[in-house]
Amino acid sequence: MPKRVIFEKEALQYPLGEKLFRYFQEQRVAIGYTSSHNRVTSIPGRTRAEGFVEGKRTLVVGVRRTKSFETCRPSAHFQLPLATSCPGRCEYCYLMTNLGRKPYVRIYVNVDEILAGARGYIEQKKPEVTVFEGAATSDPVPVEPYAGLLARAIAFFGAQEYGRFRFVTKFTDIDSLLEIPHQGHTRFRFSLNTESIIRQYEHGTPVLAARLSAANKVAAAGYPLGFLVAPIIISGDWREDYRAMFESAAAALGGCPPGLTFELITHRFTRRAKGTIQEVYPGTSLDLDEEARTFKYGQFGYGKYVYPAELMQEIRDYFNSLVGEYFQEAKVEYLV
Ligand code: SF4
Repeated sequence: MPKRVIFEKEALQYPLGEKLFRYFQEQRVAIGYTSSHNRVTSIPGRTRAEGFVEGKRTLVVGVRRTKSFETCRPSAHFQLPLATSCPGRCEYCYLMTNLGRKPYVRIYVNVDEILAGARGYIEQKKPEVTVFEGAATSDPVPVEPYAGLLARAIAFFGAQEYGRFRFVTKFTDIDSLLEIPHQGHTRFRFSLNTESIIRQYEHGTPVLAARLSAANKVAAAGYPLGFLVAPIIISGDWREDYRAMFESAAAALGGCPPGLTFELITHRFTRRAKGTIQEVYPGTSLDLDEEARTFKYGQFGYGKYVYPAELMQEIRDYFNSLVGEYFQEAKVEYLV
């Protein structure tokens, strides 16, 4: 539940905007207004750290006017813009550098127009199948109980012969999505990590056991399931810790669901992200030592610090062996 909700006036003209207004009024959440969902100036917080926490407790309800979608390689063709940010406070979150000093959670109420935009892209590309990513700039699940955006998107893609949807989450309030007619067109992915990394760095998110139990429900509901292990952090007894994570996952699922996928992303950071993280979490124990990393130019022109090639190979071999051991039928989509 957010601490304050700020509405763009135009959002109140949409049924979802009106419904949310009534809902938050009943919940006695502080309500404010803004002329633009891109420029919200009423969030308190004098220091960067305070502004960050207050931003995460603020929900902005707006109308998306941009008609085009951003591309989203390698996991999909396009981003499906439903929400931005999330109330979690993961110390490494890359959105921290992208969403400004007060990374408020934002949802769009003109979901019908957004899905009509997706239909346009699908039509242009058919008979090729077009894939949309619903979590490129957010974790869309925490707002789902009152916004229902994923439910709408999943039902929409269920009816698309040439459109597919995917999103990833660390959150577990997913029961409202189990009955949606998805037709296997939505891949539901959970982001996993070791118990100690979740405890140390993924503040305000559910524990591993809760994520695995939600994943089990999703698989039982017939959704194609995926696991994203990100970021893979090399510290302490990392081999043992990741083995324990795989063991818990295999036990929770009781076998390998058909079509299970893994996406594996090692920890990396840009110089700018390092500065932001150290400002918001001055005492962070995240390993941000440039000396121990290799500098690599990324696809967007700026460089990032990744693990050295030899260690990357060791990680690749180890994770491939864990997937093979615990989920023989699963496919590793990529390891970066
Ligand atoms: Fe960022 Fe995801 Fe953590 Fe939310 S749950 S703070 S989007 S990494």
